[in-house]
Amino acid sequence: MTDRASASSRWMPFSDRHVVITGASSGIGRATAQCISAQAGRVTLLARRAERLEALAASLGEGAAWHAVDVSDSEALIVAIDRAVAVNGPIDGLFLNAGTGGTFAPVESYPDSDFMHVMQVNLLSAFRAIAHVLPMMKERGKGAILVIGSLASERGMANNAAYVASKHGLLGLARAVALEAAPFGVRCNCIVPGFIETEMFDALPDEAMSQLASRIPQGRTGRAEELAGVAAFLLSDAASHVTGQSLAVDGGVLGTLSVQANAPSLARLTRRRS
Ligand code: NDP
Repeated sequence: MTDRASASSRWMPFSDRHVVITGASSGIGRATAQCISAQAGRVTLLARRAERLEALAASLGEGAAWHAVDVSDSEALIVAIDRAVAVNGPIDGLFLNAGTGGTFAPVESYPDSDFMHVMQVNLLSAFRAIAHVLPMMKERGKGAILVIGSLASERGMANNAAYVASKHGLLGLARAVALEAAPFGVRCNCIVPGFIETEMFDALPDEAMSQLASRIPQGRTGRAEELAGVAAFLLSDAASHVTGQSLAVDGGVLGTLSVQANAPSLARLTRRRS
């Protein structure tokens, strides 16, 4: 029996709810689909890798649908969303999670086409999906939208201008949409992952991963399930008064002074003043 089937006999946060998730074929998207399905939600899984989506939908059981789509193709994305509504009913939650890291290059030699591609996958797709779904949510007087930012929504990063610009854009988009949607009972937030172990980090050697982890206040990277639980919360009625927010799931990174390396001199200064 699937988690969803065993949950169906009692009320759960996503009972009778339909959540559409982009980038559902791996990592954070897949974990969020599993989390919502385990709470009795119907999920529609969108991404490019059909075989991954099909296998995930089969493991989730009844109520899980999938459509293979490249989110950078706006028209195809709209068609996939309309198919999701036709198969699984009106959309209660929209999690715009698909993303690409893009090319690493200094800004003066960053290829235009690479910059535009990152913008299309990360930002424009979210804008187009929201523009399509928001009117339906407004009409029903309910709904929750969640975009996925990054620490690069809040901070800069050298040699990755397109990603940083797209992730800053996503946070801005969420805040703007939140204000337009609030009078209609619709919410919009931005979740900000820190360093979450997914395929995105597959190329990083183990040594680099441990170095990274040592700089995180919790001393470790995050797991996709830890992100999924917070994403599910923001998409659920438990967050009914939360909108226009960015919420970091980062083991403490954003809460840290970046002058940590100078901690001894800061300590000296503090002593002198006291
Ligand atoms: P994964 O690489 O595991 O997941 C990325 C997902 O995006 C995949 O499902 C992929 O599916 C999908 N995707 C990528 N390009 C497209 C496209 N053109 N059309 C449709 N789907 C696409 O990494 P994560 O789970 O970590 O990434 C999810 C989100 O989290 C991203 O937006 C990322 O920027 C963000 N994030 C992650 C962090 C981390 O530490 N992991 C940190 C900060 C932000 P497919 O290839 O099948 O199309």
